[in-house]
Amino acid sequence: MTSLPQWQRQDAAHHLHPFSNQTELNRNGTRVISHAQGAYIFEANGHRLLDGMSGLWCCNLGYSQPRIKQAIAAQLDELPYYNTFFQCTHPRATELAAAIAHRAPAHLNKVFFTNSGSEANDSVLRLIHRYWDAKGKPQRKAVIARHNAYHGSTIGGASLGGMGFMHEQFDPLGNIHHIAQPYWFGARQDKTELDEQAFGIWAANQLEEKILELGPDKVAAFFAEPIQGAGGVIIPPDSYWPRVQQICQQYQVLLVVDEVIFGFGRTGEWFASQFYDLQADFIVFAKGITNGFIPLGGVLVSDRVTEALLSHTNDLAHGFTYSGHPVACAAALATLEILAEGHIDKVKNELSQAMRDFWLPLADHPIVGQARCKGLVGALELVRDKSSLQRFAGNGRAGTVCRDMSLQAGLVMRATGDTMIIAPPFILDRNEIKDLTERAWQALDLAQAQLKQ
Ligand SMILES: *Cc1c(COP(=O)(O)O)cnc(C)c1O
Repeated sequence: MTSLPQWQRQDAAHHLHPFSNQTELNRNGTRVISHAQGAYIFEANGHRLLDGMSGLWCCNLGYSQPRIKQAIAAQLDELPYYNTFFQCTHPRATELAAAIAHRAPAHLNKVFFTNSGSEANDSVLRLIHRYWDAKGKPQRKAVIARHNAYHGSTIGGASLGGMGFMHEQFDPLGNIHHIAQPYWFGARQDKTELDEQAFGIWAANQLEEKILELGPDKVAAFFAEPIQGAGGVIIPPDSYWPRVQQICQQYQVLLVVDEVIFGFGRTGEWFASQFYDLQADFIVFAKGITNGFIPLGGVLVSDRVTEALLSHTNDLAHGFTYSGHPVACAAALATLEILAEGHIDKVKNELSQAMRDFWLPLADHPIVGQARCKGLVGALELVRDKSSLQRFAGNGRAGTVCRDMSLQAGLVMRATGDTMIIAPPFILDRNEIKDLTERAWQALDLAQAQLKQ
């Protein structure tokens, strides 16, 4: 029988981890998650945790969905693999493309499949070159994205993202330009005089300034998450998106909405583009589409982009062996069917209110400078001083301490610097959201005691 110490030894010897400090990890031993049920994960040592992060923003219906598992097993019997290259398709890929287009805003009707969010963003980079070539404007190749954005970890995704600590580790692709994020709390720490809505307009106008700086006839597209997830659940002021939308239309810059986290219900709508009323040219999706049970990503393409793409008469020279993998598509079809049985309405009508009722009052805690939430995501800004919003010393140490204390309190909360974030599964009820916030308060108490020392 393999045991916890043995797994930890093997892991230290052989497993190179994504986004982990390997030295620290080998010293302390990896946390081994051995099984899961509903909204809870279990460590191999038996410790039970309420998963406030839905895995990595993907297990939105929790870990026990028998219908998704059955759909996967049935598909393995019927057709375990076939490709979608060279004029071929199979039933699940066509059914899924139709099911996604049916839920999406009316002007997005084509789906290109990938295996991940990163590949989907890379695919958009390929498609926008193809689009502007078809429009006879091949000089439009510059892309604008935002600082502290996350668009994945392939070389395209990581170049699009605006995370300095990632860019330090490789040479990002050229002609990708980053503008300020709509992060009002950060601006307040820097003593902005603007109120929240004025700041939102200022942040949106950074896009116009960058377009004018690069030359409007050089700019292909603007990439953005509707709400920045990994960057710390940065919820833009209400004034932000309408102004961005105007700017994209004025300069004919394609709008790419990266909904890898927010697609399939997290705002209480199928897509955040519906929540914010965005006219996206591309909607990038992954994560929640299969409830995290099997990899699948893709991109929804608008009619006007499709029309231009189809005006090329040669093949689209792009695709992945597993684009539209039948087993992943079967899992996604089952996931969409379950989501449609009231889960998304529940996020909209019940859980987003529970978040406002129970999460926002965490702002009263002595080490919290701001609590914010939207739909079913939330964030807490940890501060040493509530009036100046000054951070604790140690550049992210407070977040790490709070994350560890949260695990002690039986809750998975993630830290991005000194910002604590959650994205709980949709299967929780109001009382469980309350329980989650009580555990978060307990984590804050424990963290405060440690940080005082
Ligand atoms: C996770 C994420 C990605 C990358 O998806 P992968 O499946 O990990 O490649 C891209 N964009 C956003 C907004 C994400 O949160």
